[in-house]
Amino acid sequence: LPKNHISHYDLNELTTSSDALAKREEVLILTPMSKFLPQYWENLNKINYDHSLISLGFIIPRNEDGDATLKKLEAAVKKVQSSDAKTKFKKVTILRQDSNSLESQAEKDRHALKVQKERRSMMALARNSLVFTTIAPSTSWVLWLDADIVETPPTLIQDLALHSKPILSCNVYQRYVDESTGQDSIRPYDFNNWVESEEGLKIAAGLSEDDIIVEGYAEMATYRPLMAHFYDANGDKNTEMALDGVGGGAVLVKADVHRDGAMFPSFPFYHLIETEGFAKMAKRLGYEVFGLPNYLVYHYNE
Ligand code: GDP
Ligand code: MN
Repeated sequence: LPKNHISHYDLNELTTSSDALAKREEVLILTPMSKFLPQYWENLNKINYDHSLISLGFIIPRNEDGDATLKKLEAAVKKVQSSDAKTKFKKVTILRQDSNSLESQAEKDRHALKVQKERRSMMALARNSLVFTTIAPSTSWVLWLDADIVETPPTLIQDLALHSKPILSCNVYQRYVDESTGQDSIRPYDFNNWVESEEGLKIAAGLSEDDIIVEGYAEMATYRPLMAHFYDANGDKNTEMALDGVGGGAVLVKADVHRDGAMFPSFPFYHLIETEGFAKMAKRLGYEVFGLPNYLVYHYNE
């Protein structure tokens, strides 16, 4: 280290290219984590982008569930980071949230329409704390990966970076057993990847300043085309689709999008909040938002 402790970084030299791995571009993987799922951790460790180029960042709620999660995460991190193996990551940062969380994380409680504004607003604060405290001058890409995404291709980072988009979202599905046939099957999970519709704009125009639209609720029929429904099992995995809203399940973002100020609004922003508001804010900053309808990742099934 130089004696004067001055570090220089030329952000002009920081690339975000379709050939990320060959160019040795650094990736920051960010996960807000209410529960520690071993399947998430195993899947994450199988990601075959050079781990010495990957930093991890977590934010954990300050409630009792968070205490248990923190213990499990710390034990798992210690195991990987104390080895000299190739699986070791560049850096791991664990933050304890200083803002509130929902009391009940049970699926039926957290998905009730009436708690969405509060819940998504709390999630937005957690995501903002996470990204703005962990982003480094050397970060090229930020991969948002929820703690309950339990299955992705190991080539996730290379596959997404290949498209070199400011924001690129995967299609989040879920495995389940079809009760009528007893067969293993898949179904759409995340409806926050969408294209704006006339009806959506009309609903927004009639709302009062503080009201929000959350996608995926029959009570608020927007008729927005949802990426979840554009999946074609025989289609090209690289098919792109322009989006206006994204979810947070598995999304690759050029770090410059966040550096330029795009964040997760915890307040109604064009009647949108959190990840959906983030897409809107990025678009207002002049960035394009895309999704890959045929590129599936899987959400845990409670
Ligand atoms: P859903 O899949 O849309 O039902 O949303 P989740 O409840 O899975 O939340 C998205 C991500 O945020 C997951 O990785 C959760 O573990 C995490 N999460 C949920 N609630 C909180 C919270 O209050 N604080 C933090 N730090 N993370 C949370
Ligand atoms: Mn989830």
